[in-house]
Amino acid sequence: MQEFNMYINGKPVQSGKTFEVINPATAKPFARCQLGDAAFVDQAVAAAKAAFPAWSKTPDEQRKQLLHQVAAAIEANMPELMELVTRETGKPMGGLNGIGSGMEVGGSAAWTHYTAELQLPVDVIQDNEVARIEVHRKPLGVVASITPWNWPLLIAIWHVIPALRAGNTVVMKPASFTPVSTLRFVQLAGDILPPGVINIVTGGGDVGNAITGHPDVRKVAFTGSTQTGKRIMTSAAKNLARCTLELGGNDAGIVLPDVNVKEVAPKLFGVCFHNNGQTCAALKRLYVHESQYEELGQAMAELAKKVKVGDGMEAGTELGPVQNLAQLEIVQDLAESARADGGRFLAGGKRMDRAGYFFEPTIVADLTDGSRLVDEEPFGPILPIIKYSDIDEVIERANRNECGLGGSIWSSDTRKAAELAQRLECGSAWVNDHGAVQPDAPFGGIKQSGMGVEFGLYGLEEFTSIQTLKIAK
Ligand code: NAD
Repeated sequence: MQEFNMYINGKPVQSGKTFEVINPATAKPFARCQLGDAAFVDQAVAAAKAAFPAWSKTPDEQRKQLLHQVAAAIEANMPELMELVTRETGKPMGGLNGIGSGMEVGGSAAWTHYTAELQLPVDVIQDNEVARIEVHRKPLGVVASITPWNWPLLIAIWHVIPALRAGNTVVMKPASFTPVSTLRFVQLAGDILPPGVINIVTGGGDVGNAITGHPDVRKVAFTGSTQTGKRIMTSAAKNLARCTLELGGNDAGIVLPDVNVKEVAPKLFGVCFHNNGQTCAALKRLYVHESQYEELGQAMAELAKKVKVGDGMEAGTELGPVQNLAQLEIVQDLAESARADGGRFLAGGKRMDRAGYFFEPTIVADLTDGSRLVDEEPFGPILPIIKYSDIDEVIERANRNECGLGGSIWSSDTRKAAELAQRLECGSAWVNDHGAVQPDAPFGGIKQSGMGVEFGLYGLEEFTSIQTLKIAK
């Protein structure tokens, strides 16, 4: 059993109480972590607050170089970090279309290098005989990062690296299902950064709540469920701490009748099923025109039956298990409700008969809006394919959902598709792609999918406040 400590003010910290981390491919524990509480949160926030003045005044070039060193440490420890990610999440080392632990760890290094290079320019909005007016971007202070279990390391990087780049210090709280790759990352980064700049406390929602409601936390970066996001916003409101909330999605993809079914089916299958559908911006409701409905449904079902499901540590595995038992039960419950609603199961439909939290890749036809499997985010390997006949009507149906993270249009006419994509009510719209993110393009949700954006200069600005400087002449 591997043991992991919390990390506060440049030192490993133990609480004396522990919890176990389960490998979802075996349903057996493989690691033990420290159970933190509000007292450890106080220590971590105090350390981050004490480190803030010096870190925020550290010359820009030096901060940038230190973050490149952090990225290099991720690269140097890639095999170990990949194995930790696979053991805690279940996701394959390689994975469907190369989306697995290798991408998560490699992406973490790439995002860190890219974000390290970002610059916050001073905006001069007036410079004449009357006055010079400059707009400066200032770091906020202590930033909290609270992360979910689906992409634990990559999402932690998305929060922490821009926060540090802008001159803030951080206190992190990973999901208790998947803390270990993040804990190992903090050890590595802690060897490079000054004490107190990066701190981590592990435990459940009570630890998260103690952080988000702490009077010395100036901003909360949260990725997770909509329900928890609302609790966090309420808690942060006590101190008017700012929030970036990246919450649940139930993204629609609309396939226009001009696609080549054989070409589009594998692409669609990938964006729906990679990481077993446990990605916030995976395609979760697939609307297909009636003229191609049967053909595309069958093509997707063939792929679902063929895809290699197994332990992510085994070479060639494309999909792993569902990450935890509670999520598996949500998927099972949605499959049952789809059956009761008259859904036609083109592939899969049940838990697999083996150890671990495996569920068959599942495709369900003949459901429509109003069925729970269509209206609710399953966050697992089950996809409803929904028939439509009229494009205006289907856009209206896609937009009726309370989530607004992403959406996509699939067509051989990209200009027409781009026009339609702009009518989708969501933070990211794709044409002939879905869920693809990159370090320089902003990403975030609207409606119940959250507020604020991550990535690039837009994302970096969210870790700053504006100071307007007016010099009268
Ligand atoms: P979750 O909301 O249950 O937990 C997320 C984190 O919040 C965990 O670390 C948890 O311990 C912590 N937490 C729980 N209660 C808290 C409280 N009261 N105060 C502070 N922290 C608290 O989410 P999850 O089940 O881990 O993740 C799955 C969800 O996340 C899905 O809905 C998915 O769509 C969403 N998600 C969104 C994005 C995005 O970028 N939009 C990315 C990944 C996941």
